[in-house]
Amino acid sequence: MLTEEAQALNDLVERNETFVILVHRYPEGDAIGSQLALGLMLMKQGKSVEMLNYDKLPWQYKFLPGSEHIKIAESFQRDYDVGIVLDSSDFERTNYTESEKGMIRYLVNMDHHLSNNFFGDLNIINPQASSTGEMVYNLSKHMDIPLNRDIALNIYTAIVTDTGSFRYSNTTSETLMIASKLVSKGIDVAWANENLFEIGTLGRIKLWGETLSKIELTYHDLISILTVTQQMLIQSNAEFNDTENLINNGLSIVGVEVSLLFKELSENTYKVSFRSKGKINVAKVAEIFGGGGHFRASGCKISGTLEQVRDKVIKMVSKELEAHGLTTEKTAN
Ligand code: 5GP
Ligand code: MN
Repeated sequence: MLTEEAQALNDLVERNETFVILVHRYPEGDAIGSQLALGLMLMKQGKSVEMLNYDKLPWQYKFLPGSEHIKIAESFQRDYDVGIVLDSSDFERTNYTESEKGMIRYLVNMDHHLSNNFFGDLNIINPQASSTGEMVYNLSKHMDIPLNRDIALNIYTAIVTDTGSFRYSNTTSETLMIASKLVSKGIDVAWANENLFEIGTLGRIKLWGETLSKIELTYHDLISILTVTQQMLIQSNAEFNDTENLINNGLSIVGVEVSLLFKELSENTYKVSFRSKGKINVAKVAEIFGGGGHFRASGCKISGTLEQVRDKVIKMVSKELEAHGLTTEKTAN
């Protein structure tokens, strides 16, 4: 984070009273962890803070300190001096409208996506950061806000989820150094990771079993395909967020370069998740469909029947694989 950016935020905090912190739809660990950490930080400064989400808090994150402060609302009930949007490459990803945007006097956009479209009055964008959580940590240093254990646990959650438990290529020495500082605040690492990654509902396991049993491979077995329909969610008694990390199973198959997950949002609307082993840039493919993300992890929303959506996406991914010389010959063994 640049000193000028931190200074600008410092001034905003000093001069204003009411803050709203927003994240993207279907929030995961980085969004929720960053939101709670920043929210608790501002509350410690004596500010009036609302953490407002369009979607209900996923079961997995209910154990996080401060999560009781998160409010669910489809629209704003009031104006705010400052709005801070976290982990979202564009304002639309919050699912709030232009009219809500107009109820925020000064908009801050804080994110680590390369594809961010700089929608804020102040834009703090760092594609080198592993996660938005890492940026919140740096902000706390610049703003001289001492971290307590609760804030540290939320930032740790943001970082550990977005780095796949420090396994992905976005894990840098800086990331690990920050994690070390957070743990030194007294986080029970084993307990946190158990809550984040090892415990889930029965519905989640049933959904994973059902989805994985139907996995398919295509395009010379370089692409794996997983599908979750609304009916599968209902039948297994799972919630939408229970699909988090499910896509990684598709990528774990030897020879697979790209894993795809199609999630039915409503009739004829699908959320598509992309994961790449690193040979092709899946953000580029998601952007074709109006989405975005990172080189190895991206997503978008597409309308159409499942068959139409699948065909369109598979065609574009295959084209990209082909452009990188990934064909039958290359994968014959
Ligand atoms: P996931 O597949 O876990 O939902 O998302 C993976 C990554 O893709 C996210 O971290 C985010 O960067 C990006 N992403 C997912 N959905 C969208 C979308 O609808 N629009 C944009 N711009 N990015 C998305
Ligand atoms: Mn993130």
